[in-house]
Amino acid sequence: MFARYANRLSALRDTATAVKVLWRADRVRTALGASLQIAQVVSTLLIIVASKAVIEAIMSAGRSGSISALVVPLVALTVLTAVTSSAAILEAQHDRILGHKVEQQIWDRLLKVTTRVDLDRFESPRFAEHLDRVVTNAMDKPVDAARSLFDFIGSLLGCVTVGFAVLVIEPLLVPPLLLVAIPSAYFAVRSSNAEYLYATDVTPTRRRLYYLRLLMTQKPHAAELRAFESARYLASRHYDLEATLLTKLRRVVATRQRYGIAGGVLAGLGLALTLGTAMLLINSGSLSIAAAGSSFVAARYLANNVGRLLSDLGRLTEALPFIRDFEIFERTYATSVAEVSKHDFDDKIRLEGVNYRYPGSMTLALKQVDIEIRKGQVVALVGENGSGKTTLAKVVAGLYLSESGRYTWDGVELADPRTARSAIACLFQDFDRFNFSMRENIAIGATDRPVSDDDVVRVAHRAGLADTLDRLPDGLNTQLGNVFDEGVDMSGGQWQRIGLARTLLRGSPLVVMDEPTAALDPRAEYELFSDVRLTLEGRSALLITHRFASARLADFIYVMRDGEIVEAGSHEQLMAHDGLYSELFSLQSAGYV
Ligand code: ADP
Repeated sequence: MFARYANRLSALRDTATAVKVLWRADRVRTALGASLQIAQVVSTLLIIVASKAVIEAIMSAGRSGSISALVVPLVALTVLTAVTSSAAILEAQHDRILGHKVEQQIWDRLLKVTTRVDLDRFESPRFAEHLDRVVTNAMDKPVDAARSLFDFIGSLLGCVTVGFAVLVIEPLLVPPLLLVAIPSAYFAVRSSNAEYLYATDVTPTRRRLYYLRLLMTQKPHAAELRAFESARYLASRHYDLEATLLTKLRRVVATRQRYGIAGGVLAGLGLALTLGTAMLLINSGSLSIAAAGSSFVAARYLANNVGRLLSDLGRLTEALPFIRDFEIFERTYATSVAEVSKHDFDDKIRLEGVNYRYPGSMTLALKQVDIEIRKGQVVALVGENGSGKTTLAKVVAGLYLSESGRYTWDGVELADPRTARSAIACLFQDFDRFNFSMRENIAIGATDRPVSDDDVVRVAHRAGLADTLDRLPDGLNTQLGNVFDEGVDMSGGQWQRIGLARTLLRGSPLVVMDEPTAALDPRAEYELFSDVRLTLEGRSALLITHRFASARLADFIYVMRDGEIVEAGSHEQLMAHDGLYSELFSLQSAGYV
């Protein structure tokens, strides 16, 4: 009992939310939409009155032989019919713009969440699943909800006013219509609930399906798919998922069809009952022909309106849970990032006793980590795969928030470590290769200030792109990548230099580089590293590398294993220590000898 009331309350709240969404999107259009609905209701009501006048005029014309009394009601009927149908058409077109604005508003809100939510939450499967559901459903549902809400209010007003008209003309005609409306509404709501349950149920399967489609349609996977001849296997997995989805779709379609048929039969029954009652009343002489004529018109409108009311209610109750889902998504993942002036440091950045755990993970990915980066130093992080280097770099960059420990710049603890982002430039292994122009690819590193072409060219040269720039067909305007027609694709090494140029342009006091030379050949890597300090122009750097030849050039080296710092020192100190570093170093040099 209580749950039912709570349900109704939440439906009311969701309806209020839908109205708020509309109102925020465009007040004037929302008001105009509502006015057009009211215009339709009023003119419908007047049509009933006019029809009664027309029938009375026809009957009096039959008696008197003059048709002059017909003129006024006929003109009124013409005008009213024109108003009703034009208002409906105006409203439908008007709705399209309002719908667009609602969509725009929802996207704005959604993008605010997706671009601000903390990285580790963003990376979690739970977030991805919720986002997927919101993007596939909640994006058009608010528009649907908004439209159906208007329509619903219109139909409701229509039912009430026309119902009132029927009540005035002949009260006995109302009960058969109502008798049928109530069970029909029940079926409409059940049908919509079934749809929501279905959408929630299929989201995980859909995500797996989309993933398989990516594997079979996107360039990064094309070579391996052919080399491993895995297409047939992937296609069969795809087929199985499609089959699962189809079964679920069949089930929901059958359910909704059953409810739909039940609703349709009841609507027909309602109309038949009403008309039958009217016939009986005329027969018994208690209903005049003119009253009967206009009540036929009214009953027809009412039946239409009840039908519309039910389908609007269906659309509305179908859309509302998705809006709620969107609101929950927004509330759960809303993150505010404090805007601060750029940090800088004169002496050192330190992490002390830092623990970090990925969301939902049982084990710590970083355990009691202490590191220090001094001004102007190049600090290297080395260690085997999975030892926690990337995780640590992301904590330093303010992208992951540690569970415990201190993070200080010149001895001052950062109130919100996320503010470190504004002072750090990152070059990740999977850095972005934007299908934008060469200029934008680099200049996007510093969107907080105006960037001149000279700035772009200077960092491009620093990153070793001088030859590449000379060869571009349209200079800095050249479109890069292979997504768009006119794009010029770059080699892995060239992209990496573009990423480096972008990082340098950012102009921050600390640069974090995760395997910055992975795509470079040995000569290019040597060139980059032999004068890495020149390239960095005095900035400090935290460098993750697998190549010990690069690591040995660093001022200080931290060695990681299982999320812990196990050794620290200069190359010479670590070699003399004869521990993990010297073992890994010897293994790698043995490979080269
Ligand atoms: P490295 O950079 O040294 O190869 P990482 O920092 O990438 O190591 O990974 C450290 C540990 O954290 C590994 O055990 C890895 O499985 C785990 N890990 C990395 N990314 C995630 C993630 N997004 N969610 C959960 N665990 C992760």
